[in-house]
Order: sequence, then C-alpha cells, then structure tokens
Amino acid sequence: MAQTVLVVEDERDISELVRYHLAQAGFRVVTAADGRQGLDLARRERPSLVVLDLMLPGMPGLEVARALKQDEKTRAIPILILTARGEEVDRIVGFEVGADDYVAKPFSPRELVLRVRAILKRESEPDAEERIVHAPLEIDLAAHAVRLKGREIVLTATEFKLLHKLARRPGRAFARDQLLAEVWGYGGDVETRTVDTHMKRLRAKLGAVGGWIQTVRGVGYRFQPGGRAAAD
Ligand code: CA
Repeated sequence: MAQTVLVVEDERDISELVRYHLAQAGFRVVTAADGRQGLDLARRERPSLVVLDLMLPGMPGLEVARALKQDEKTRAIPILILTARGEEVDRIVGFEVGADDYVAKPFSPRELVLRVRAILKRESEPDAEERIVHAPLEIDLAAHAVRLKGREIVLTATEFKLLHKLARRPGRAFARDQLLAEVWGYGGDVETRTVDTHMKRLRAKLGAVGGWIQTVRGVGYRFQPGGRAAAD
C-alpha cells in the first residue's frame, strides 16, 4: 500500500507541483490549503509524513507543527517544513517544535522527494544502529552501556534513554515536553523540571563531554558533539 503524504500549502502552484512529484514517486498525496484543514486531515488520515509550509493563512505552520507534536495521535508523524529562503529563524524554530527537516523555497521538487524518502527511511529503521560513536564517547545500544575513552559510565535507565534520544540526532533541539513524553511516557504528573534535574546529573556523569549536552534557551536540550557548553 502506498504511503500517504499530507501537503499543507496555501499556494496552489506549489501545492500542485509537490503533489505531482510525490505522486510520481509513488506516494498517495492529500493536500490542505490552510493550517486548520491540515491539522484535521493529519488527525483523520494519519499520513506517513507531513510537508508543511510555514506561511499559511489563519493558523501559521509553526502552530500546526506544535499542535501535531502535542497530540498523541499525530506526534510521531515526521514533518518536513517549507521555509522562505534565508529565514533561518524559521528553520531553528521549526526544529525546536519537532520538524525533521526543511526545504527552502524555491526548491527543486526532486530534492523534496529525496528528502521525504530519506526521512521515511530513517523513521522505518529508528533503532537500527547498534552503536553511536562520537569519540571519545560511545553509546552501545546492544550492551546498554556508555563508555568514555573506553571506560564505562554508569547511567540510570532514564539517563541512558535521554542520552540516546539526543545523541541519535546531533544538533537537533528537543523540547522538554517532547522528552517527557517520549522518555517518561505520558504520566501527566511529571514536571518539565524533572528533565532539567536528570540532564544535570547526566552532564555531571559525562564529565569531560558533559558540555555536549547543551541547553537551548526557552526550549530544551540538544546534543552537540565537540561543541562547547551553552551558558544557562
Ligand atoms: Ca504559503
């Protein structure tokens, strides 16, 4: 069965161009011309991926992305955002709200199809890697062990999950809410401050590379190997 891609874009020419090329590539495509409709369709159709324009009438794309990530039913759907060229702020905020990738306008439809395929491929084998290595740090998933310069660091199960979650996507910002939902699961009684507490301990345990876990102001955390610690 063909995978469904939802395209949320108000500009009809662009929407049609994207629809055409995705359909040519074998996807079933549904389109929405504004954010609200896009959100409704995402909930109803449960697409494999959403191509989301940020400049939408009524409900802006970033709000749509936030709403998708807040809803348990749509949280796992990857989002590829379309941004205006040069709007770096949009891209950063897009990643912060959980977008997986972006394409800047004007874009090549073939490039967009390639990006869509790459995201879906990654999603289909999320835990395929056995080891994540950023020397001198090694995260061994099979053994559920973390080593720094070859020496094992003892982490709690939660700390391990947090580190793994961040390290799988270096450079990407994760919101506290998202980490809470994905690492702790939905309890409802866990506070976002809990994330900070665990991160603090994790950083301390990681010693020399603790600074790789960076605070993203107003959002949450990211793993930046080789980077210096952000000032809190
Ligand atoms: Ca638009």
